[in-house]
Amino acid sequence: MNIQMVDLVTQYRKIKPEVDEAIHRVLDSGHYIMGKEVGEFEAAVASYLNVKYAVGCASGTDGLQVAMMALGIGHGDEVVTTPFTFVATAETIALIGARPVYVDIDPRTYNIDPAKIEAAITKRTKAIIPVHLYGQPCDMDAIMGIANKHGIPVIEDAAQAMGAEYTGRKVGGIGAFGAISFFPSKNLGAFGDAGMVVTNDPLLAEKARMIIVHGSRKKYYHEILGVNSRLDTLQAAILQVKLKYLEEWHEARRRAAHAYNRLFARSGIIVPSEAPGCKHIYHQYTLRLSRRDAVAKHLADKKIPHAIYYPIPLHLQQAFTDPVVPEGTFPVTERAAREVLSLPMHTELSEEQQEFIVASVREAMSHAAGQGEPAGVGSAT
Ligand SMILES: *Cc1c(COP(=O)(O)O)cnc(C)c1O
Repeated sequence: MNIQMVDLVTQYRKIKPEVDEAIHRVLDSGHYIMGKEVGEFEAAVASYLNVKYAVGCASGTDGLQVAMMALGIGHGDEVVTTPFTFVATAETIALIGARPVYVDIDPRTYNIDPAKIEAAITKRTKAIIPVHLYGQPCDMDAIMGIANKHGIPVIEDAAQAMGAEYTGRKVGGIGAFGAISFFPSKNLGAFGDAGMVVTNDPLLAEKARMIIVHGSRKKYYHEILGVNSRLDTLQAAILQVKLKYLEEWHEARRRAAHAYNRLFARSGIIVPSEAPGCKHIYHQYTLRLSRRDAVAKHLADKKIPHAIYYPIPLHLQQAFTDPVVPEGTFPVTERAAREVLSLPMHTELSEEQQEFIVASVREAMSHAAGQGEPAGVGSAT
């Protein structure tokens, strides 16, 4: 059985005429930088997320950096975030000269634990970056409550969660800024790198708009330091087509997640939770398994793709050793890094494929149990 972790080509084939038309329209226009599709797509995203301003940029990583630059964060500042995320979240903090200050995660949602945020706040804290990991919204009411109490802006890393909802609101538009990634494998994926920042604040939007074009409003008049991080016209045109299908694709992912949940029933395996009041968009479908590595090996033997997001928490990455944060500092994160396993999840997954995948995980579990250890974990705490 040919199973893929993400199936971008089949998805493309289904909308090929529309996508190809958009691509050729841009090629024929000659407006490869800041063509009209960029503004049109920004307006479409603002409307979709129900935010006032959306500024396209070259990647989700750049979106995080641009947001922090617009907020004036830099040398000597601290930014509170989660150690259980893709490296970009902390990398951008360090690149602008600030220091990532980590807070452990909630064992059920894998998102930053709001109960532990306040202890990490100091006089130097200039932002909090919660990450809506795997497409599951963070507990934003709790996070915004703490942030507002201390007067600290929140930048939502919504790279994996474009369209996920928290109490009826789409994430990304709840904090001062939201950063979105259109990396090809994200729920709304471009055909290359692309990203966006969204905000409801007109001054922050204006700053972000300047920063992405070398800190200028008018060409060759540079008021502030910026970067070169524009959203390509070509990617904007492609994304404009794909955005129309996003809700339908979320539903396909949610159906696939619910099918996995049913197939794993009574297996003792911990399946993803959907936090109360939230709409999870299942960028990833992630299990928690005590004998994770044995299960991963069994899946590899059966040619079933799978992935570990993420095997090494950021506080233990070699790139972040100043200051050294010893192992054991964030036990919930460290345990998750040893136990998570993501299964194939995309809009083209068939029931037959899911049955085969689940049967293989269950098989691996009983092998592991035969060796005297349960493969499932009794409790997530
Ligand atoms: C993908 C991702 C990013 C970075 O997005 P790019 O578009 O790849 O630069 C940042 N944060 C998280 C959590 C991500 O998953």
